[in-house]
Amino acid sequence: MFTLTLISEEIDTYIIDDEILYNHKELDLDFLEVGKNCNECNPKTDYVCWFCEEAQVPLDAKYTDDCRWVVEIERNS
Ligand SMILES: [Zn+2]
Repeated sequence: MFTLTLISEEIDTYIIDDEILYNHKELDLDFLEVGKNCNECNPKTDYVCWFCEEAQVPLDAKYTDDCRWVVEIERNS
């Protein structure tokens, strides 16, 4: 039986394929832009389709099981 304990509620837990990612933070998607000449995106509502979204996130971004983009937190120590 796999139980989750000892994880602080203050830290968001990101899970991909049932594996917990540590040292990750959620990506701020404000930079996303609707695709030009894309039939799926909607400029009126600023809706960005999955294809265009995936093309704009950083290469090292990962998509969690609950539909959030996360990136590893850089350690500059
Ligand atoms: Zn699009």
